[in-house]
Amino acid sequence: MSNIPYRTHLSEEEIPRYWYNMQADMKEKHDPFIHPGRLDPVVFEDLQPVFCDELIKQEVNTTDRLIEIPEGIREVYKLYRPSPLCRAYNLEKALGTPAKIYYKFEGNNTSGSHKLNSAIAQVYYAKEQGITNLTTETGAGQWGTALAMAAKLYGVDLTVYMVKVSFEQKPYRKAVIETFDAKIIASPSDTTEVGRMMLAQDPTTSGSLGMAISEAIETAVKTPNSRYVLGSVLNQVLLHQSVIGVEAKTAFEKIGDYPDIIIGCAGGGSNLGGLIAPFMGDKLQGKTNPYFIAVEPASCPTMTRGRFAYDFADTGRVTPLTKMYTLGCDFKPSSIHAGGLRYHGMSPIISKLYHDGYLDEARAYGQNACFEAALQFAQAETILPAPESSHAIKAAIDEALKCKETGEEKTILFGLSGTGYFDMSAYMQYRNGTMVDYIPSDEELNESLQHLPKIPGIQE
Ligand SMILES: *Cc1c(COP(=O)(O)O)cnc(C)c1O
Repeated sequence: MSNIPYRTHLSEEEIPRYWYNMQADMKEKHDPFIHPGRLDPVVFEDLQPVFCDELIKQEVNTTDRLIEIPEGIREVYKLYRPSPLCRAYNLEKALGTPAKIYYKFEGNNTSGSHKLNSAIAQVYYAKEQGITNLTTETGAGQWGTALAMAAKLYGVDLTVYMVKVSFEQKPYRKAVIETFDAKIIASPSDTTEVGRMMLAQDPTTSGSLGMAISEAIETAVKTPNSRYVLGSVLNQVLLHQSVIGVEAKTAFEKIGDYPDIIIGCAGGGSNLGGLIAPFMGDKLQGKTNPYFIAVEPASCPTMTRGRFAYDFADTGRVTPLTKMYTLGCDFKPSSIHAGGLRYHGMSPIISKLYHDGYLDEARAYGQNACFEAALQFAQAETILPAPESSHAIKAAIDEALKCKETGEEKTILFGLSGTGYFDMSAYMQYRNGTMVDYIPSDEELNESLQHLPKIPGIQE
């Protein structure tokens, strides 16, 4: 056996001091955010009522490659970071592959996912600015939990709008969020105008991330000294999540290896964007050429079947228009278990990198195939993966099996974005054979894509 350890740990001192900003190295930046009313590019003042000042600066920073992580954030990162880079020896053996499989595990905190990395940063900057109330949405509940933890640590009040279907499916999520004293409301709700409108249109709706975003923004704008925070999609979130990739790269340097293939599941693109960030930096600078794969659910195939176009980030159509891969903001994803992947859009950075060919491939899998991979992984590596993460596992296994055919000893890195302890009903359904794969028809996708916004001169 090689001398690469099962777990490569970094020391507390080695927690990164800088986030890496991919935008600085992208030769072409993503298209500007467009104001939904004026239909021209948004400016700082447009975003100020909704977002914290420092976070807006990070959002539009396309020049600084490295952005310092404040000590007040690094101190909190020390509660659960650095996260280990794990070598999946047991899985390799089970597959009989010559490939070397690594994963970066982000589930080792109570919120159970990578989302805490950005939650801490966003609440920190809000607190610095003197903000007292934050609002947000959560789908599967990981983001709401992470943010509740961070809000409690920094002493900021939080209201979470949770997508109704998840609220009902996952009562323990609510209990955890309330443990950290955050307020949690099932969305759509009657607490906002936009929520009441959505309920009037469809009283039995199971909700969506897009709807919950609209409600959280409305409440932030109407509450004094309040701002809205978002757990994915935004450039600032990818920036914060780069802590994953920077740590991974340092760990690879220690063991003298470098990934040939890097894989992440993609909901809004933040764990993928964070993991690939410094490796993408190498590629953009022409130093190395790793192969990047984004994996999404077949039930919500944003990159594989969506359109690269301007669209709203929410269902209520209040956010700036964003050029991204989208299924249309009216698209209602089926109630698959990987709740964190049920989003109609995609990070504008990830979208641009994919469109320009730097992010090499997007692929989609049905959930039964992903759970099969999750079980295989759990049984070999003893970590119970989140349903979202199982999409990356499935792709990593497929790539490792290709290596078995060709005899290539490729180095594969995938993001294990979280644990699945709150998803045991999904595991039970998989095991008793009642899990269904839902694949939207072309007609269904065309229906929501028909309603993409029109922007004179830009998108007719
Ligand atoms: C939220 C979540 C995702 C999807 O979000 P991204 O922004 O695409 O990373 C993936 N995995 C887990 C465990 C999540 O909680």
